Amino acid sequence: MGPVYLDHNATTPMRREVRELLAAELDALGGNPSSVHAAGRRARAVVDGARERVAAALGVGEEECVFTSGGTEANNLALFGALRLQAPPALLVAGATEHSSVLEPARRLELEGFALRLVAPDSLGRIEAPALLAAAAEPTCRLVSVMAANNEVGSAAPVAELGAGLRALPGDRRPLLHTDATQALGRLPVDLASWGVDLASFSAHKIGGPLGVGLLVRRRGTPLAPMIMGGAQEGGLRAGTENAPALAAAALAVELAVREQPAFRTRVGAVAAKLWALLAEAIPGTRLLGPPIDAPDRLPNTLAVLLPDARPRMLVARLDLEGVAASAGSACASGSIEPSHVLLAMGCSPEQARGALRLSLGRETSPQDARHAVETLRRTWRGLAAARDDREN
Ligand code: PMP
Repeated sequence: MGPVYLDHNATTPMRREVRELLAAELDALGGNPSSVHAAGRRARAVVDGARERVAAALGVGEEECVFTSGGTEANNLALFGALRLQAPPALLVAGATEHSSVLEPARRLELEGFALRLVAPDSLGRIEAPALLAAAAEPTCRLVSVMAANNEVGSAAPVAELGAGLRALPGDRRPLLHTDATQALGRLPVDLASWGVDLASFSAHKIGGPLGVGLLVRRRGTPLAPMIMGGAQEGGLRAGTENAPALAAAALAVELAVREQPAFRTRVGAVAAKLWALLAEAIPGTRLLGPPIDAPDRLPNTLAVLLPDARPRMLVARLDLEGVAASAGSACASGSIEPSHVLLAMGCSPEQARGALRLSLGRETSPQDARHAVETLRRTWRGLAAARDDREN
């Protein structure tokens, strides 16, 4: 059995069709999309085509799509871009379990004099609409940011309910709503119009597109200041020569992700459920974090688990030697020994919050992969437990 990659929430391999399109675009004569000669006009047509396809797939206007370098930049642009047009101490309300590309800009804005309120999730990692709406009803609140689905434990937020709740506030008191839908796209239904969001962030490399491409959807009329200046690209909201080949490839990935989302959820959800059932049997006492496996408000591909007496960092290193790629908590934080802010916010102890193992599946993960991963995990976990018992005796 070859290696089994179970870290698709960190990044998922580029799809074959996407790679082929990217290679073809790189081979084609490329100009700067802002140049007026034929090579430039061709590149402009590629960028325009990518924007058209993304807009159609997401059900938004082409002028509402701002391409960025990734989900991180889209989140930074949403927060800084929306709030820096407001005067401190305007209030920003965000979920306590947001990705660091939301939380760190939020903390920076706090240093600049803005007020910040982080809303805690329930014990399953779900941000509840009443708690968020109560914070957002504060008259000084100007922006609410809540991720559509969490990258560490997979809990999904009731974004449509939040959008409806915010729309019920009087017009002059209605804060903008931003959602980081980076992990939700292609895995759960994403319907920006019915969600009623003003701003939404996406990342291509989480859905089989190229690294280094993201998108901020900015609904018509939403005031936003640029962070990167020096050119008229992206409607003046994000200067810099467009990466035409990568945008074309990203647009194809978005189209495929949206089209295949229902099938992804059914198929990958079934493999994830199988993996969880096998794991619960193989290592009794293992706890699944986040909503129950069959809950509709969870990412179908994400299993965050607490194994009894496990040191996940050691486990991840040993699993890697055995050809199984997993992650300890969130990939972005795994270089440090800090407990996961997501698990702490869910009420886990600091020890538990350092102890979660994340297995995130992709569109090609098979039931055999799941079986192999569980067998390897059981062997590795037992080996580590035996080594520890030897040391302690
Ligand atoms: N938001 C979430 C929820 C994520 O999981 C990630 C990726 N770890 C990002 C934002 C950042 O996206 P990117 O890697 O494209 O910068």
